[in-house]
Amino acid sequence: MQSAFNGSSLRRPFHEASSDLASHFHAGPSSRHGGDDRDGDDAIRGTDDDAIGSKLSAVELGYIDDPYAGLFSKSARFGSASRRPPLINVGTHHRTWTLDKLVEEFLTSSTEDGTDGSKKGKGKQVISLGAGSDTRFWRIAERDPSLIKRYVEIDFPSMTSHKARRISTNRRLSSILTKSAEAFPSSDATEAGKDSRGKPKISRGGTQLETETYALLPIDLRVSPPTNPSTSAKSSQQTLDALVDYVDTSIPTLIIAECVFCYMAPQESADVLSWFASKFDNIAGVVYEMCGLEDSFGKVMRSNLQIRGIPLPGATFDSPAAQASRFLSAGFANAGAKSLKEIRKDVLPRTELERIGSLELLDEVEELELVLDHYCIGWGSKGGLVGGFGL
Ligand code: SAH
Repeated sequence: MQSAFNGSSLRRPFHEASSDLASHFHAGPSSRHGGDDRDGDDAIRGTDDDAIGSKLSAVELGYIDDPYAGLFSKSARFGSASRRPPLINVGTHHRTWTLDKLVEEFLTSSTEDGTDGSKKGKGKQVISLGAGSDTRFWRIAERDPSLIKRYVEIDFPSMTSHKARRISTNRRLSSILTKSAEAFPSSDATEAGKDSRGKPKISRGGTQLETETYALLPIDLRVSPPTNPSTSAKSSQQTLDALVDYVDTSIPTLIIAECVFCYMAPQESADVLSWFASKFDNIAGVVYEMCGLEDSFGKVMRSNLQIRGIPLPGATFDSPAAQASRFLSAGFANAGAKSLKEIRKDVLPRTELERIGSLELLDEVEELELVLDHYCIGWGSKGGLVGGFGL
């Protein structure tokens, strides 16, 4: 077996498994809405292209199904440039399969007031933090637009402006937006109102896009430094206060933080989670990121990313239990977490493991387990989701 400490998995952890950041660094200047970029933000945004590269590889080889993979990427393409080693493809599969399962569980669950979000009730809402080029909304809304009443994606302005452009110029996506808007009653019954259903409104210099059901918002979730000496720094919670205009705090809501809190200070992500717990009565959350970086394997992973200009100030959770407790500290009532290694052992159906096991030869089983042990999915919930929420 290849040594874990020199192996491909360490140089290229599977949430950001490409070493090709150069294209991103040369992709041209980008600016944050209402402020300048901070040092290192380009490298953080580059992790999104890495994540897409891994998804393209997993899609191409049949591990996961995503017709939109790569659509929002500035540089990633199908083909040999995106091809990842089997170990990375397996990790990408486990991460995607499990998050999809949790999102599906949330969208199809009943609430204690008897409403079923998918058809008869008031509907459900998903808010994706650091959404990058994620395609989940399009995959779900194309299959069943009635499942999601509101889907909000948040990222840096340079990310949202690129995605907004792609959305507004793509026919297939435009038709999904129309169907998604038509799935819920409108207060505007005029002909003009009917005609404009699902038509995106673009604002803030092209960095924001909105329809009745979908919104893409340019927000930096960290503390914002003062813009001039007479103002004070804005906390993550003060920044999020602006979100109230774009979300419905009265319907069951899921927040997804897939590989984003690790790039923020622990206090900033704690503030974000507690803001959601305080504003929404009925809320669930899912976090995916690395954990247990204090051992020798984790230290090498951290320093390899640091060398690429990607510090991980938020990756301070040493175990799945610690990930679960971040939800409880933030005001969620129930929480849990499992490493991808535990998920492979306890959650993934045997038939699915057999299916992906036949796709490629994987002879680095020990190395796979070591890597899977350093990534974790945590969840929390509060309010009336019947039967709780989690794996
Ligand atoms: N969630 C997506 C993308 C992960 S890459 C997925 O799992 O596929 C991390 C994303 O978080 C990038 O798009 C990056 O721009 C975004 N991000 C990092 N820090 C952020 C912050 N402070 N505010 C908003 N977005 C942030």
